Amino acid sequence: MFLKQIEMKGFKSFADSICIELEQGINAVVGPNGSGKSNIADAIRWVLGEQSVRTLRGSKMEDVIFSGSNSRRAVNRAEVTLLFHNEDGKLPIEYSEVSVTRRLYRSGESEYLLNKKPCRRKDIIELFLDTGLSKQAFSIIGQGQVEEVLTSKPEERRMMFDEASGVLKYKERKREAEKKLAETNDNLARVHDILHELE
Ligand code: ATP
Repeated sequence: MFLKQIEMKGFKSFADSICIELEQGINAVVGPNGSGKSNIADAIRWVLGEQSVRTLRGSKMEDVIFSGSNSRRAVNRAEVTLLFHNEDGKLPIEYSEVSVTRRLYRSGESEYLLNKKPCRRKDIIELFLDTGLSKQAFSIIGQGQVEEVLTSKPEERRMMFDEASGVLKYKERKREAEKKLAETNDNLARVHDILHELE
């Protein structure tokens, strides 16, 4: 599995539609300061479900939408699509190519698409869990993040090992199951109360 294409429109400094083709192996992006190199990494994080505006180097989610420049007006929508080569089936889905899209409108409305079909953020997160490219993985190391990893708390470092060893997916499912169990227990308690009142 490898990332073969990034398409963006209206994301951060990329007002116009741009398509970046990547090769298997090492790819390098070079450019002057402030030309948008880190914005490309932000775009990848964002599509993979990143919710933290701090990680995306903004103060609110709307900051990912192109906000205008001297020569261009702001736009109303940011859209990024990642295209993955999946012939080795590393992504657990029956397609040799997988596209993942995220859109955000200034109104706050947002959408995720998997192979052009609407899906939930949860579906994207699950698809990438344990592939080494999930949003919790350290596959994207931002500037200053190496130091952050070295000085991280033991629990944070533990999460890194959980992802690498493939147990994060099960922890996530356990957390969801526990939440459902707690909700069911609450409902049951309510039913008992009602029954008690009726007796
Ligand atoms: P450096 O080499 O200094 O780290 P870089 O090439 O990684 O720089 P980025 O940090 O990716 O550059 O891009 C910063 C640029 O993106 C800034 O000029 C900033 O104004 C622009 N930018 C960020 N968000 C938006 C936005 N929402 N709308 C318009 N421009 C934006």
